[in-house]
Amino acid sequence: MAREISSTFYGTSSVHITDGVTSIFVDAFLTRPSFARLVLGRLRSDEAAVDWALHKGGVDKLDAIFVSHSHHDHILDAPAVAERFGARLYGSRSSLNFGKGEGLADELMEQIAGGDSVEIGDFTVRIIEAPHSPGNISPGTIDGELASPCHTLSFKDGGCFVFHFSHPAGNILVLPSANFVPGFLRGLRADVVYLGVGALGRQSAEFQRAYWAETVGELRPRLVIPVHWDHFGRPLSKSLKPIPYPADNVRATRNVLREAARGSGIALHFPQAFDTNTVAAPS
Ligand SMILES: [Zn+2]
Repeated sequence: MAREISSTFYGTSSVHITDGVTSIFVDAFLTRPSFARLVLGRLRSDEAAVDWALHKGGVDKLDAIFVSHSHHDHILDAPAVAERFGARLYGSRSSLNFGKGEGLADELMEQIAGGDSVEIGDFTVRIIEAPHSPGNISPGTIDGELASPCHTLSFKDGGCFVFHFSHPAGNILVLPSANFVPGFLRGLRADVVYLGVGALGRQSAEFQRAYWAETVGELRPRLVIPVHWDHFGRPLSKSLKPIPYPADNVRATRNVLREAARGSGIALHFPQAFDTNTVAAPS
């Protein structure tokens, strides 16, 4: 049994997790169309961008992709990446409707809901439902097959998931969209938390405090990796930059998180793309 798991960040909330045997992605959004293209619409997965990112990150096999919600900055490349490796795509009905539209075979898709648990290799993946971060630009569900190229706003969120990966070597939680329900993570522990912070800098101090308490406060990780703060219209081949103000206020987010973590013994690391972290079982 593997004694170590490593997790690699791919921008936004895309994270690759492996124990050397089982290989899993959250979201796998790699194309990152420019903001100009988002306004014009007609989004589609770009094979060259996907190739480049997977090669750079060293992903050469994949068992599963867990899609947190069906906004384009989470799901756009998931069907293409699933198909490339014969990996299974797990997501909401809306996410599966995009998979169908993209021609992904039914046997490579499985619908999930809050409260479900999925076993893959030595990983147990717990699915937790949570609301989208405040300021959802495309709420609702994708009710029929959706095929690319399609407009940004046709990617309705379809409901949002948080993923808890437990493994004999340790636990990782990925929370893509910055929101919570009181008590939603109660009883869970994680060594590392990929904490969605999109638009967090624009929320009230009360929201920010409650968000930290309901996530990091419950999970008590040794490391918090803030995610979804980067300008997702820039390609992964360039260094990550914050989403520009006033679309978000990443400077405020950094200050809030630093203040919350101060004196807690919890490390905080704002990642660049392809930063890898390792969790190892105590020997
Ligand atoms: Zn979203």
